Amino acid sequence: MKKILHSTMKENNYSLILRTIFHNRSIERVNLVKETLLSPSTITRCVAQLVDNDVIIETTPSQYGKIGRRALNLEINPNALKVLLVDIGAQRINYAIGKANGDIEKLEYSKTPKKFENILEEIHSMLGYLDGIDVVAFSVPGMVNVETDTILFVPSTGWRDIKIEIPGKIVYADNEANLGMIAEAFHHEEIRKSQCSVFVTVREGFGTGLWINGEIFRGPSYTAGEFGHTTFDLHSSKKCHCGNTGCLESIISISSFFGKPSSEWSKYINELFISGDKRVHEYLDILSRALVNIVNSLNPEYLIVGGELSGLDNRFYKELEKLIKGRALEHSAETVKVLPSTFTRDNYLYGALYAVIEEYLIPGVIEKIK
Ligand SMILES: [Zn+2]
Repeated sequence: MKKILHSTMKENNYSLILRTIFHNRSIERVNLVKETLLSPSTITRCVAQLVDNDVIIETTPSQYGKIGRRALNLEINPNALKVLLVDIGAQRINYAIGKANGDIEKLEYSKTPKKFENILEEIHSMLGYLDGIDVVAFSVPGMVNVETDTILFVPSTGWRDIKIEIPGKIVYADNEANLGMIAEAFHHEEIRKSQCSVFVTVREGFGTGLWINGEIFRGPSYTAGEFGHTTFDLHSSKKCHCGNTGCLESIISISSFFGKPSSEWSKYINELFISGDKRVHEYLDILSRALVNIVNSLNPEYLIVGGELSGLDNRFYKELEKLIKGRALEHSAETVKVLPSTFTRDNYLYGALYAVIEEYLIPGVIEKIK
């Protein structure tokens, strides 16, 4: 597989067909015609090419018993792509294998080392026993140049200007909040089609992924969405990783507010919330004020809460939404919906896989067929 970025690719019938099949997971030809608005003869011709290239497969539907022959379903061939997914958290690294149809198989965890080179050494040894990996994709808790796979800055570890290279493999690297946003957009049609949605990740830091007009907005130097470094307390002398004082992140990150890092943070916060502990209610109050700033400045339709604030009791998100709606500008408040992240902690793994499908698999297939 060659590295061809989606941004350099012209959209065509093949990308439309592949995306439609991917989003449906399994679809009959007649419905593919309806959804893509392409002619049946175009669908027949393109599908034949994609089957010949082993990118899509025809499967027998599971329902039997109807009279007559059932039409075959079209699905993405899971083996058309194999990705090693690497989600780097400040405490630990989650590894998984991703397939072309969006399936993920979890591998091991390991402790996040101080040096980035140690992660590459670990990956090198994993590639020794994992066969057929096409791409290694990284979720990074910091700023990343996605065009050159360069980590620009990770505040929690101090990593700066690291170009990721793995001999013989295609590399993809992106900021974790962007990947969280991509996972949601791929999974939910209403989010994908929204004019603006924001994914908020709160772990050791506070980051956002911005979905604007059907794509991630990264900014010209890849630092858009760093709301964690907006000034939230004019009188604070607390120094942030970024060098400034009074940053939102230094007040509202889970470690700043709840204390020492733990791999069980979300469980801990959930228990506090359910027991009515006043710290969580104080936290919700501050968090809602921070999110009101985002809601008032971007007017999002969906505000998706992830990171260590994933998988909590549903009342947490309801309470947060109520606080936000009570404080935001009237028209922004009417539009915004607060949602928990879909895949809880695995959001970044799914986001990395979906980004690779979008950025490399689809453009690569089109290039090959051309
Ligand atoms: Zn800062």
